[in-house]
Amino acid sequence: MAKPPKPYRSRKVGNRTLSPETLMMGFGHSPALSEGALKLPLFQTSTFVFRTAEEGKAFFELAYGLREKHQGEEIGLIYSRINNPNLEVLEDRLAVWDQAEKSLSFASGMAAISTAMWSYLRPRDTFVFSEPVYGGTEFLVHNILPQFGIEGVGFMAESGADGFREAAQKAVALAGKTGGRVGVIYVETPANPTNGLVDIALARQLSESMATPAGRPAVLVDNTFLGPLWQTPLSLGADLSITSLTKYVGGHSDLIAGSVSGEEAWLAPVRVMRTILGTMGDPHTAWLLLRSLETLKLRMDAAAAGAKIVAEYLANHPRVKSVWYLGFLPEDHPDRPLYERQCRSPGSTFSFEVKGGEKEAFAVLNALKVIKLAVSLGGTETLASHPAAMTHSDVPPESRARLGITEALIRLSIGVEDPADLVADLEQALSA
Ligand SMILES: *Cc1c(COP(=O)(O)O)cnc(C)c1O
Repeated sequence: MAKPPKPYRSRKVGNRTLSPETLMMGFGHSPALSEGALKLPLFQTSTFVFRTAEEGKAFFELAYGLREKHQGEEIGLIYSRINNPNLEVLEDRLAVWDQAEKSLSFASGMAAISTAMWSYLRPRDTFVFSEPVYGGTEFLVHNILPQFGIEGVGFMAESGADGFREAAQKAVALAGKTGGRVGVIYVETPANPTNGLVDIALARQLSESMATPAGRPAVLVDNTFLGPLWQTPLSLGADLSITSLTKYVGGHSDLIAGSVSGEEAWLAPVRVMRTILGTMGDPHTAWLLLRSLETLKLRMDAAAAGAKIVAEYLANHPRVKSVWYLGFLPEDHPDRPLYERQCRSPGSTFSFEVKGGEKEAFAVLNALKVIKLAVSLGGTETLASHPAAMTHSDVPPESRARLGITEALIRLSIGVEDPADLVADLEQALSA
């Protein structure tokens, strides 16, 4: 009997390297391994049967790193906390978008972030982080890691290169006192909800300047806001690129998942931590994500085009005070060169301020008919939220003021509806 072909792994046709959106239809899946199924079936199973005891032994030797792989040897399927076909194909396709050697999937964006942090931080270590960060990350950084003797030094995305350098020096000094190392440089860019930018190449430079014989801090970038289409942190110097797949990649507001991508050398400790903490994704969610990935580019392109139309409409509205849309960054803004270097699109999530305060902002939110009032972003439907009263309500008022998260600020995540309908909805809500 002929051996079944290897899963489809070629990224080339003749001399042409296929685009990611093309690879999303089949990459990593071999129909011959699944009864000829065009689509990867759902492998809803906890464990896998070994053909022989010797095979089981060999799989475990590789999974536990007890020996090097023989030529051409692949690790076999063992148990769905370690590996599973749905997770593996999902990870192959995420790596294509992230321009990564490998990808790992997780049960949520927070599972991805926390597992990566646990992989590179130990008691007495310090780390540098940009602010503002996602609310869950903020809690991890301020309330949980310190309980394990791990202290972060934050800097405002808006404080630019000087603020970043200063925080790095402080983290080195603090590590000197505690007797630990600087384990991680953690960056979220663009920041939510301000769209402040952090220089990823500078993060890498700073990491290299802190190198010791034991290594250098891991540069971790949360790429959720523009990833994976519009920003590629690994190509800008990041060691690990983290995405909440709940947002654009899942894209239908019906699942929670996350990923970490990078070189195998940086991912190896994260994979061990994932296996032991059990923070991996599950087969059904991976199966849904494979479906979502087929339309990822279509959805993100449509959302970005709609966002541009809505942002331009709002910018010209007499009841709107300001619009924080990356596409409106003035030519002479200090972040403009960084924006052009790092981002391929302004994205589809942005904030605007109405004239007035909470009362006026709430009046607009309550009058919306098409646009739904909910947190989250990157879904097919447009969502509106009030950062000061919702996602950022636990940020102390003085920090909120410093960040520019005013009572009049509304955040929009534009979906794939007809943009003219969204404009009509905002029109009637703003005149309410
Ligand atoms: C949503 C989000 C997360 C957390 O992702 P979950 O999938 O909800 O755990 C992390 N970072 C950013 C920027 C996010 O928007």
